[in-house]
Amino acid sequence: MRVHVPGPLAAGALLALPPDAARHVQVLRLQPGDPLTLFDGGGGEWAAQVQAMGRKAVQVQVLRHRAVERELAQAVTLAVVMPANDRMDNLVEKATELGASAIVPLMAQRSVLRLAGERAASRAAHWAGVAAAACEQCGRNRVPTVALPQPLAAWLAVPLPAGTQGLLLHTGDAPALKACAPAVPLALLSGPEGGFTDDEVAHAQKAGYALVSLGPRILRADTAPLAALALLALGA
Ligand code: SAH
Repeated sequence: MRVHVPGPLAAGALLALPPDAARHVQVLRLQPGDPLTLFDGGGGEWAAQVQAMGRKAVQVQVLRHRAVERELAQAVTLAVVMPANDRMDNLVEKATELGASAIVPLMAQRSVLRLAGERAASRAAHWAGVAAAACEQCGRNRVPTVALPQPLAAWLAVPLPAGTQGLLLHTGDAPALKACAPAVPLALLSGPEGGFTDDEVAHAQKAGYALVSLGPRILRADTAPLAALALLALGA
């Protein structure tokens, strides 16, 4: 069993598991002495052992560090206009499994879902939890960051980091992503159900994003970024 815990972890430390993980350990009926794996998101993972099972609390001891990473060869930031309903939860989970290093929820002109203030912060925290849970399941020791939901214009106003290539997933004429994704850190920009407006596409191009296509079929707002990630993660 793999458990994400707030770090930093250190060899020999004794700690109580967070409540959700403790409940899971209880359900699995682990016993003192049973092994588990902890990671704090700071890199690598830790062999650990159950020390004591209380009625609710579970004490574990941290043993050895293992410098294991299961990241993509290239960092991929997914800047995605949020699909409506719980599709974003699903998108964050799958994007984490497929190796995205950062997720930036965006709002565009044709967005259905708009979030600001307290609600934006609480959704971001919720999605960070979804990403951490996905890392427990899939073996990643680096939890992707989830940014605060923000307008597309605000995201484009921040220059791409030097060396990062921006790619906009475009439903019109554009070269295939497969043929033109360079082996450098990437920022993938994906649109809402209603698509990007022409103005938004032009704005992104001015900000350094190249247009790329995933083929002749129109994919849904939550399918397109996952298809692109899968191509980058598994296609190499
Ligand atoms: N009616 C919209 C559909 C948008 S689909 C339109 O025609 O543009 C949601 C988003 O997924 C798009 O904005 C785009 O970023 C991405 N997408 C969907 N299908 C794609 C494809 N075949 N190639 C590249 N991007 C695609």
